[in-house]
Amino acid sequence: MSQSSWKDQIKKQWGPHKHCPICGKAMAPSKTFCSQTCKDNYLNKEKKQKRMGRIQLIFLFSMMIVMFFLLFVFS
Ligand SMILES: [Zn+2]
Repeated sequence: MSQSSWKDQIKKQWGPHKHCPICGKAMAPSKTFCSQTCKDNYLNKEKKQKRMGRIQLIFLFSMMIVMFFLLFVFS
């Protein structure tokens, strides 16, 4: 992937730092979030995403079953 190249460029320009995954603020690389508020926001988001992930998985599986079925019917 080309992702590693732009990440390296940013590292060269800005030195070792990380961005808060919630608000995007620059912070120390050892930190996961810039503040407690962002941590709470992240945990709330994660809870929602976990639920969404399960729905997506079920959707994906049902799509696969339909695809297999179609392949068998039309081949
Ligand atoms: Zn933040």
